[in-house]
Amino acid sequence: MSITPLMPVYPRCGVRPVRGEHCHLISEDGTRYLDFASGIAVNLLGHSHPHLIGAIQRQAETLMHVSNLYGSPQGEALAQRLVDMTFADTVFFTNSGAEAVECAIKTARAYHQYHGQAPERFEIITYRNAFHGRTMGTISASDQEKMHKGFLPILPGFHYVDFNDLEATKALIGPHTAGILVEPIQGEGGIREGSEEFIKGLRALCDEHGLLLIFDEVQCGVARSGTMFAYEQYGVAPDVMAIAKGIGGGFPLGACLATETAARGMVFGTHGSTYGGNPLAMAAGNAVLDVVATPEFLAQVRATGDRLKARLEQFIGNYPDLFEMVRGKGLMLGVKCKVEPRPFVAHMRDNHQLLAVAAGDMTFRVLPPLVIDDSHIDEFMDKLSAAAASYVPPAPAA
Ligand SMILES: *Cc1c(COP(=O)(O)O)cnc(C)c1O
Repeated sequence: MSITPLMPVYPRCGVRPVRGEHCHLISEDGTRYLDFASGIAVNLLGHSHPHLIGAIQRQAETLMHVSNLYGSPQGEALAQRLVDMTFADTVFFTNSGAEAVECAIKTARAYHQYHGQAPERFEIITYRNAFHGRTMGTISASDQEKMHKGFLPILPGFHYVDFNDLEATKALIGPHTAGILVEPIQGEGGIREGSEEFIKGLRALCDEHGLLLIFDEVQCGVARSGTMFAYEQYGVAPDVMAIAKGIGGGFPLGACLATETAARGMVFGTHGSTYGGNPLAMAAGNAVLDVVATPEFLAQVRATGDRLKARLEQFIGNYPDLFEMVRGKGLMLGVKCKVEPRPFVAHMRDNHQLLAVAAGDMTFRVLPPLVIDDSHIDEFMDKLSAAAASYVPPAPAA
């Protein structure tokens, strides 16, 4: 037997974390890492946050799981908070981002089909280099061939265009179009921001053609971009939105939010989840919102993000051969490189105990916990500077 007990779908590196302390991870061998990856934009409160731990502990002792066949005071409370702070009127809880996007796709199809108004409308326009998850539906929603390879046929009904290309989007709209699915800020694709003109233009196109506008804020949502949700910074709202990652602060939790109109097809029996929204997950979600959903906390994320971005911009000027630019909002930042980002991320990790995440478009992501202070920025810049100074890019493959 040569297959590993963990199905070998991840190229796992040598870091083997066994403990978290605030913004640091401690590996099995005792090495201490500065965690500016946050489990890929998940650990908003860092590790070992007492409020999150306390909420999960208390809920675990009280009631961990019941079926969605019963009433849910815990779920109603979190759904109400999300409804109060967003465009949405209703929420479906999931265990992951992909499931939240699946629910959004089903919501869009059902909106047109369920009551038979426009059963021919089932296609969704999505964007090149988007990432929406790893289920059959969500890989089909992305144009990335490396995610399709070996899993064909993908689900029909998705059409891809270039991100930020409003004219190309417009050209694809036809009698079968049900909606548009987009990350306002592409995460996996390399921290690429949707332009204001583009996002506003999508809203106008959806209004004009009776389509649902779906935002995938699984990565950029929940305070990461400096506002509760990234869409707030564009001055337009979607009809449906998928969130996950940060909302559980490390506990697996996602949600699909929708307006009453958009959710008109999601009636009894059309959708479900055994675990989705169980009391333990709701306790985690509520605890995260307790901390991040305040004007003071969000202002702090914006201010900290601005300081970190300014430091990064100043720093990359010293290494014009390595780095090209810094992008992003709040504490969702990306450094576009002139060298392959993956080996550089590995160098930062293995030689300077700094964790960041590689992404598409020659970029590495800087996604610290939202609770960092200036001491963490200093530590980050020290490690990054040392890593850049000592970096020798691998020779290109022959
Ligand atoms: C991570 C991510 C997903 C998928 O979330 P999972 O929890 O891994 O299923 C979907 N959309 C975006 C934008 C993401 O960043």
